[in-house]
Amino acid sequence: MHMTITENKVVLIHYTLKDNSGETLDSSEGKDPLAYIQGIGNIIIGLEEALAGKVVGDKVTTTIAPEKAYGVRNDANVHVVPLSGFQADGDEKLVEGMQVRVETNEGVSIADVAKIDGEEVTLDLNHPLAGETLHFDVEIVDIREATKEELDHGHAHGPGGHHHH
Ligand code: ZN
Repeated sequence: MHMTITENKVVLIHYTLKDNSGETLDSSEGKDPLAYIQGIGNIIIGLEEALAGKVVGDKVTTTIAPEKAYGVRNDANVHVVPLSGFQADGDEKLVEGMQVRVETNEGVSIADVAKIDGEEVTLDLNHPLAGETLHFDVEIVDIREATKEELDHGHAHGPGGHHHH
């Protein structure tokens, strides 16, 4: 009996994620496989689609466009704000490339400090991988039914999943 990847299955995968230039962005190599629940948005939609119907031992190589990954970059997510709006936080000085927490209409969000020009700070609230085409190499390690508790929580438990203490 071969269980296939369908909605509400807990799936354990080993994966390597590369960008268009072939640089590795993330990998489970040397770590526990990643555990996720298929069909509920734990992972990007393009990867769910690529893995649907697969069985343990399958190896999947897939290229995912930004629309099915972290979305396209949106200029509306880039804001220029006054430097004076940032409170000195201990010794931490605001520098380009750092990440800051900002209040938005949708709550607290993480922004990239894209540029500091005199008294003007450019904040980029796009996801760091927005606009990126992603290349995944995935090996399916295990597939099992999700428990009711896992479905209630919206994430997998156990190795590679969430741990509650
Ligand atoms: Zn939980």
